[in-house]
Amino acid sequence: MSSRAEALAQLRDFIPRVPRYAKTRNYVRPGYEEVSRLSRWIRYRVISEEECVQSVLDSHPAEAAEKFLQELLWRVYWKGWLELRPSVWDSYRKDLISLSSTHKDSDSYQHAINGDTQLSFFNEWVSELVTTGYMHNHTRMWFSSVWIFTLNLPWQLGARFMYHHLLDGDPASNTLSWRWVAGLHTPGKIYVARPDNIATYSDARWTPKPAELRVDPAPPRPETLLPLVELPPLSSETPPEASLIILHDDDLSADLSGEFAGRGAHYCVFAPSLVESSRQKIALMSELRGDTAQRVRGPLVSSAEEVSVLARKVGCDRAHTMMPRVGFERDSVTRLSSELRASRIPVVYHRRAWDERLMPHARSGFFKFWERIKSSL
Ligand SMILES: Cc1cc2nc3c(=O)[nH]c(=O)nc-3n(C[C@H](O)[C@H](O)[C@H](O)COP(=O)(O)OP(=O)(O)OC[C@H]3O[C@@H](n4cnc5c(N)ncnc54)[C@H](O)[C@@H]3O)c2cc1C
Repeated sequence: MSSRAEALAQLRDFIPRVPRYAKTRNYVRPGYEEVSRLSRWIRYRVISEEECVQSVLDSHPAEAAEKFLQELLWRVYWKGWLELRPSVWDSYRKDLISLSSTHKDSDSYQHAINGDTQLSFFNEWVSELVTTGYMHNHTRMWFSSVWIFTLNLPWQLGARFMYHHLLDGDPASNTLSWRWVAGLHTPGKIYVARPDNIATYSDARWTPKPAELRVDPAPPRPETLLPLVELPPLSSETPPEASLIILHDDDLSADLSGEFAGRGAHYCVFAPSLVESSRQKIALMSELRGDTAQRVRGPLVSSAEEVSVLARKVGCDRAHTMMPRVGFERDSVTRLSSELRASRIPVVYHRRAWDERLMPHARSGFFKFWERIKSSL
C-alpha cells in the first residue's frame, strides 16, 4: 500500500546517492538508480519539497547537493510560474477542445498513443509509460520532442496523453515542460532530441537512425502572454483550535506543515473522482488518500453535503484548506467551496509559508528564480 511511510523510506534510501546525482542523472538505465523516483510522492505533497530539501541539507553540504536541490526547486518554479499566469492553463485547456475533435481519428495521433509508429524506440517509451506510469526525465524530453517535431503532432495532445498516464502527472510541471520543449517557454529555444544524445544517454539501448528524427525544426513564433497576476489572496485568519480542515490531493501532508499542526483540528480528506487519469493513477490516489485519512483520523469526503454534516457534528461553522494550485485540484476544490458557502460553511484558504516565500519569484527564467531563492533554503 502506497503511503507516507513508504515515501519517507524512499527519500532516506536516496540521500546517500545525492552527491552522484549531478553526474549520472541524465542516463536512462534500467532500474533508474541514478534518480530518486520521488515525484509520485512530492507531486501530491505526501512529502513536501521543503522536507526533501531539509533532509538533503542535513546530510550533505549545499555545494555537493546543488544539482539535486535545483531539480527539486524546478517543481516549485513551475508551480509559481503557472500561479502567476493562470491564463496559460486556461488556453491549454481550451486548445484541447478543438484539437481533440480534429485529431481523435487521425492515423498519426492514433499510432502515437497506441505505440504503433514506425519508430521502435518511441513505441517502447509509450509502452513503458502506459504500463509503469513512470518515465525518466530525459525520456520525457525525447518523447515530447519526437511527438512535436518528428511526428508533427500538437504539443497539447502529447501533454494530455502523458498527464493521463504519469503517476506524478502535475498540471504545472507537465504542461510547462511541454511548452518548454515546444519552444514556447524561452522564445527562440526549442528542445530537439538528437540520435547521438539518445544513444549516449541510453547506453545504446535506443539508436535512432539520423533519417528517423527531424533535427532542424524552426522555433515557433513567440506568443504574447497576458500580464502576470498576483498570487490569489488569502485570509489572514489563523485556524482556531478544533477547526475543520479539508486536505486535498495537492497537499496531502498539509496537517504537518505548521500552518495547521497541533491545533486539535478535525480533518477530512477530499476525494472527488479524478479526471484524465489512468486506472493505475486512480488506484494510487485511492491508497494515498486512504493513508492520509488514516493518519489524520478523519473521513474521506467527496461532496459538500458530507463536509457540512461533518462540520455540524464537530461544531465548526467554517472550514480551512490549503489553496490548491492552478489545475484540476483548484477546479474541484473551488466547486466544493462554493457549494459549502451555499450551505453557510465558508472555506478559508491558507498557503504554506514556503510557497508564499518562493512562488512570487517565478517571474521569468528558472536560473534567475534559483539565484533569488537559493540562500533562503
Ligand atoms: C515533457 C515533460 C513532462 C513532465 N511532466 C511532469 C509531470 O507531469 N509531473 C512531474 O512531477 N514532473 C514532470 N516532469 C519533470 C520531471 O521529468 C519529473 O519530475 C522527474 O523525471 C521525476 O522523476 P524523479 O522523481 O526520479 O526525478 P529526480 O531526477 O530524482 O528529481 C527529484 C525531484 O525533483 C523534481 N524534478 C526533477 N526534475 C524536474 C523538472 N524538470 N520539473 C519539475 N520537477 C522536477 C521532482 O519532484 C523529482 O521527484 C516532466 C518533464 C518533461 C520534460
